[in-house]
Amino acid sequence: MSTTHHTLVILGGGPAGLTAGLYAARARMDHLLIEKGAEGGQVLLTDWIDNYPGFPEGLTGFDLAEKMTAQAKRFDLNSMFGNVLSMDLSAPVKTLELESGESISCDTLIISSGASPRALDVPGEKELTGKGVSYCATCDAPFYRNLHVAVVGGGNTAVQEAAHLTKFAHRVTLIHRRDQLRATKVVQEKAFANDKIDFIWDTTVTAIEGKDGVESLDLLNRDGTVSSLAVDGIFVLIGVIANNTMLPLRELNADQGGFIPTDCEMRTAVDGVFAAGDIRSKNVRQVINAAGEGATAVLSAEEYLHIIH
Ligand code: NAP
Repeated sequence: MSTTHHTLVILGGGPAGLTAGLYAARARMDHLLIEKGAEGGQVLLTDWIDNYPGFPEGLTGFDLAEKMTAQAKRFDLNSMFGNVLSMDLSAPVKTLELESGESISCDTLIISSGASPRALDVPGEKELTGKGVSYCATCDAPFYRNLHVAVVGGGNTAVQEAAHLTKFAHRVTLIHRRDQLRATKVVQEKAFANDKIDFIWDTTVTAIEGKDGVESLDLLNRDGTVSSLAVDGIFVLIGVIANNTMLPLRELNADQGGFIPTDCEMRTAVDGVFAAGDIRSKNVRQVINAAGEGATAVLSAEEYLHIIH
């Protein structure tokens, strides 16, 4: 199959990639954004976004993704669907190999491949995924009308989505491994004030039981007490893992979690390669950061091109 070449390739179409696409398109750079699923990334898994500036009433994750995509397309974003399996970053011209057999080369690359929900890794989880085990409350909440569900996790995602689930489920039990939530205070306050949410502290889920669907959870308290909780479903919302299977991790100097370090201009350890959004090695993962990093990455790519040409 033939190789096509672009000045800039953007890998991933979440908020970082879409913002990079917007900046590249407006700068009239020869660019290509490659996305393997739906444009929007993890934002599509978020029910409601209250902290993206410019939307005083808030908006759904789906709406924000759609608006970002439409804005980039207004400036002729060049995008394609494709699954990048591997890449060679060893030469000034970088090459990406796609599942379709196609090769795409580029002078500069922005890695904005994002992150995916982390699994609990306990017995029953894999077998019952899609049968009561879910990683996306926004997608699956309506299946639990008048039922009892558990949410695992204590971060913004778990606590915020627990509140969203109460629009459907009659009871939501949030199970957290410590006795304090990690979520932002305002998100915590909303959850504590919601009488449909109860909390099980200092507890982990050790197994998910059920034959054709989730029936109960095996729980282990910090003090060693084991118990069982009957539920109709479980939402595992315990953070993210890097989408990095296509990346040469050693060359990019990936951190222990497989995320990619950059300097403050989004430059990675490889010349001409930039990273933006949740795939970056960092502590704060917000849509607003991802968007800002996407913009910075394009401006840095432009500067790099000026220097080498
Ligand atoms: P997170 O902030 O990393 O929190 C993960 C939670 O899961 C923590 O409470 C952690 O417990 C728990 N956890 C991790 N591994 C576990 C395991 N194996 N078993 C049980 N519990 C486990 O992840 P997140 O909530 O998905 O958020 C990801 C990023 O997106 C964060 O930066 C977050 O701030 C951001 N985000 C922001 C918003 C917002 O601003 N509205 C909304 C959603 C997400 P410990 O607390 O004990 O570590």
